[in-house]
Amino acid sequence: MSAEYESVIGLEVHVQLKTKSKLFCGCPAEFGAEPNSNTCPVCLGLPGSLPVLNEQAFLYGIQIALALNCRVAGRLKFDRKNYFYPDLPKAYQISQYDQPLSSGGHLLVEMKEGQKKIGITRAHMEEDAGKLLHEGRAGSVVDYNRAGVPLMEIVSEPDIRTPDEAYAYLTALKAVLQYVGVSDCDMEKGSLRCDANVSIRPKGETRLGTKVEIKNLNSFSAVKRALQYEIARQIDAAEKGETIFQETRLWNDERALTLTMRSKEEAHDYRYFPEPDLVPFTVSSDWVEDLREDLPELPAARKERFVKDYGLSEYDASVLIQDKDLGNFFEECVTAGAPPKRASNLIQSELLGMLYERGETFHAMKTTAAGIAGLIRLVENGTISGRSAKDVLADMLETAKPAEDIVREKGLTQVSDETVIAEAAKKVIAANPKPVEDYKNGKEKSFAFLVGQVMRETKGKANPALANKVLKELLG
Ligand code: ADP
Ligand code: ZN
Ligand code: MG
Repeated sequence: MSAEYESVIGLEVHVQLKTKSKLFCGCPAEFGAEPNSNTCPVCLGLPGSLPVLNEQAFLYGIQIALALNCRVAGRLKFDRKNYFYPDLPKAYQISQYDQPLSSGGHLLVEMKEGQKKIGITRAHMEEDAGKLLHEGRAGSVVDYNRAGVPLMEIVSEPDIRTPDEAYAYLTALKAVLQYVGVSDCDMEKGSLRCDANVSIRPKGETRLGTKVEIKNLNSFSAVKRALQYEIARQIDAAEKGETIFQETRLWNDERALTLTMRSKEEAHDYRYFPEPDLVPFTVSSDWVEDLREDLPELPAARKERFVKDYGLSEYDASVLIQDKDLGNFFEECVTAGAPPKRASNLIQSELLGMLYERGETFHAMKTTAAGIAGLIRLVENGTISGRSAKDVLADMLETAKPAEDIVREKGLTQVSDETVIAEAAKKVIAANPKPVEDYKNGKEKSFAFLVGQVMRETKGKANPALANKVLKELLG
């Protein structure tokens, strides 16, 4: 980025709540059903039909608000947001306008430079629209299965400063929602959607610049790429003395650029007014406090616990807690007897990398937490070397066999017999007169090289500590 400008970013996230039924009717809210099969007079907006609030969705909404440290409103009120579009059969969306379910919260975001607090302006409930399908057809068709599915819209303050921070914010938000258990947060299935607002301003300026809203962002990395592009575009325009217009732009991932969708002049006037078919009601603060008490452990608290109870570094803890299931997997390894630091290291430096290379996730992998703990036990008690552990792990992922069986079948048991190691060490010394000479002249690196050769000579099976000791003795 140019030295004279800073970027200012605010994100609007829509998250689909994983209720069984829709927000105001009993139709299934599931994804992937036969088009238009999950519909009824209410979600199709037929005359005379009346909405009834889904209690589970309301509960999830409050849980999200609490998990994001928001104030919960004492009164629940819905409004009609009017606009005409084929995917919106009523020609209005039931949403919340001037009295959102919650406001004034924050989310802690992990950056390399440390933690950052991003303000949450508001989090409110609304219903989703249907889905228009254009591709592969002469005309367009519409599927109303999604119409009326419950959403929470979570709006951040313009506190985000860089595309990396935006990425970290989304990662942290997804983790919180996953821990509370209210959404799948799957961007591919559209259960999490994000619009990004971005402006630039000269460094030191406190007023906000003119913002551009970016839509059509299909992954967290697309959000980051789109912001990078848009910031560069705005700075370039500013430097040429051009005016930046308030507008909505669409991210085109293939061409890696944003294009104008509509300008401020064409902006909607939604003519909000209170939804007359849903009577406002009071939200008891005692009930809200009970819900707060019942919230599950959230990522930030879990991270602290991992540092405190397991002695992990802040960084290691933050990687493990990012995904609830990964955190659980780590804790299962510990419960199965693995020392926490070893389990953390094995998971982070070997397991995740290997799974990535195999194109697998740990949800679908063949080995279990008990299996990993078993592998770690073999390293701990000296049966195999750390180096063989990698090979054994790779085999476990391939065959689902227990570590013990693989070690036995492949003859990987670590050699802790001093005479065998001495045999190998003598060979190495004879074959490497130069490094031996260097070591004797005080070059420590040469010793490491010689140990490496002993390991090689024994096909990685020598107990490294013993190889060290024996070699030192032989070299005097
Ligand atoms: P709108 O009325 O256009 O929806 P809002 O004030 O509701 O605008 O803000 C929508 C989002 O845009 C919020 O996430 C907010 O933080 C962000 N935002 C507002 N102004 C700016 C700005 N000047 N630059 C970047 N982001 C902004
Ligand atoms: Zn319905
Ligand atoms: Mg807005």
